[in-house]
Amino acid sequence: MTARYVILLGPPGAGKGTQAAQISQATGLVHVATGDIFRENVRGGTELGLLAKGYMDRGQLVCDDVTIEMLLERISRPDCGAGVMLDGFPRTIAQAEALDAALAGRGARVETALYVEVPDDALMRRLSSRWLCRTCDRIYNTITNPPPTDGSCEVYQRDDDKPEAVARRLQVFHQETEPLIAYYERQGKLRRVDGEQAVERVGDDLLAALAAQGAPRS
Ligand code: AMP
Repeated sequence: MTARYVILLGPPGAGKGTQAAQISQATGLVHVATGDIFRENVRGGTELGLLAKGYMDRGQLVCDDVTIEMLLERISRPDCGAGVMLDGFPRTIAQAEALDAALAGRGARVETALYVEVPDDALMRRLSSRWLCRTCDRIYNTITNPPPTDGSCEVYQRDDDKPEAVARRLQVFHQETEPLIAYYERQGKLRRVDGEQAVERVGDDLLAALAAQGAPRS
């Protein structure tokens, strides 16, 4: 069986983390999120974490060579043998090309790039109202999905969800990551989903797009 490689593309705050976790549950694809791996390394105080933290706090991308090496190592582990759902990678053309080359070397390829579309003004609102639980990693939104008031979650705001970093991340998305839309469109792999709908609808649309794109082609 060939491993499946699915990419979830979208600006910061589009809901990629939430959706990727659900798609992973529904499909059995392993959820690999480069942002989560960087954050684990920051928490663990590793050399990689120390390097990544500076970029992350400023809302900038971690350099390509470090990110690519980390991602390729992660997806070559045995738990990824059947396939992965990539969340937050690739974010630059160089990363996409490195991924394509590495997969080609294994006789595999990217199956689909799912693009969750959300306009900037909605993203600004969402990101500045996003809070996370330190212990269970659950994601809350102070407007639409507030954290429990009984103290069962210890919530905090990511440094890069603070206003200056959010503006910077959106700018980086438009400059560095948006060109990937054309990149995957040219390869006939792009599927667009309206990310402004209710979370469940976005999830349904993503699964439907994945099923349509993953279906055997003549
Ligand atoms: P995320 O949780 O996906 O929003 O990622 C948080 C931060 O981690 C980003 O703002 C970047 O600093 C860094 N990061 C995550 N994925 C990548 C990537 N593919 N390339 C470069 N930096 C990344």
